[in-house]
Amino acid sequence: MAQKRDYYEVLGVSKGAGEDEIKKAYRKLARQYHPDVNKAADAEEKFKEVKEAYDVLGDDQKRAMYDQYGHVDPNQGMGGGGFSGDFGGFGDIFDMFFGGGGRTRDPNAPQRGSDLQYTMQIEFKEAVFGKETDITIPRTEQCDTCFGTGAKPGTKPDTCSACHGSGQQEVVQNTAFGRMVNRRTCTVCQGKGKIIREKCGTCHGSGTVKKQRVIHVRIPAGVDDGAQLRMSGEGESGLRGGPNGDLYIVIRVKPHEFFERDGDDIYCEVPLTFAQAALGDEIEIPTLTEKVKLKIPAGTQTGTFFRLRGKGVPRLRGHGQGDQHVKVVIVTPTKLNDEQKELLRQFAASGGEHTNGGHEESFFDRMKRAFRGD
Ligand SMILES: [Zn+2]
Ligand SMILES: [Zn+2]
Repeated sequence: MAQKRDYYEVLGVSKGAGEDEIKKAYRKLARQYHPDVNKAADAEEKFKEVKEAYDVLGDDQKRAMYDQYGHVDPNQGMGGGGFSGDFGGFGDIFDMFFGGGGRTRDPNAPQRGSDLQYTMQIEFKEAVFGKETDITIPRTEQCDTCFGTGAKPGTKPDTCSACHGSGQQEVVQNTAFGRMVNRRTCTVCQGKGKIIREKCGTCHGSGTVKKQRVIHVRIPAGVDDGAQLRMSGEGESGLRGGPNGDLYIVIRVKPHEFFERDGDDIYCEVPLTFAQAALGDEIEIPTLTEKVKLKIPAGTQTGTFFRLRGKGVPRLRGHGQGDQHVKVVIVTPTKLNDEQKELLRQFAASGGEHTNGGHEESFFDRMKRAFRGD
């Protein structure tokens, strides 16, 4: 296969030819080589060549790219690249890749700022009762000197001539499946669509500056670990008049040495002596706000929960508070003196523990049955 001819040469126009001149040349050649009217052996091939040249030179963007890069693959090594005889095919493939490309971002359009995330550690009680605090967030803002253009005040950025301001370039490749057109970020302007000749002294041409921003945060009472607070418009600033992003504050609650939390309820464990549990007592329980008295009835078993109504966490949305649940754990004494040991022996004997009758034995009988499985 011959080397691909220059598109201008194909149409017989100069490199500086205007739109009209190109169109006129194309029409003339298309009529001349159209396979319906021209029965020469090479007419179809010529017609294709003309059509292809016009598809590129007749389109501002494609022409600019062609001017800069020429044919991407000048050898057309695939022998036409599996290109079918359908004359509309070439244009269709182009349209497929050029048209309606929703993913492509216009570099001149307003752009929303990015969202930011900030993780904030707070104390257990701060989560319960809420907190107000100031945080410092580094964020990107539009440069006030150049209003985001990046150009020195009094100057204007030039539209990039390689991409005509679109920020995108198209790369044509011949593949086994035909001609493929890929978009890529313009390498001349790095996708900005503009070339800044004289840069703004404040932002050095970026149009944005990093600023430390102090933001007042009000953490609502009842917030839980992992909660996210959204602060609308406190993210990165938008560009070219686009809206700011949002700031998401992720709450991390430090564990408490005594309390645990499950939703709006608070859990804690208090130790009881065997005597307290057996005889009953009144004990003091710390809550989130104060100490309250809790009556332990005689004969309380280890692991029993008592509920302190309304002593939990304020409900985040709505009224009222959760409860505090107190689990009592009976602590077996480990350091008994001789007198205590003797008293316990007497206690056991008076309850009949060492005999084979009564309550204790039936408990062991039940256990044996359970292990036998009947
Ligand atoms: Zn460009
Ligand atoms: Zn600036």
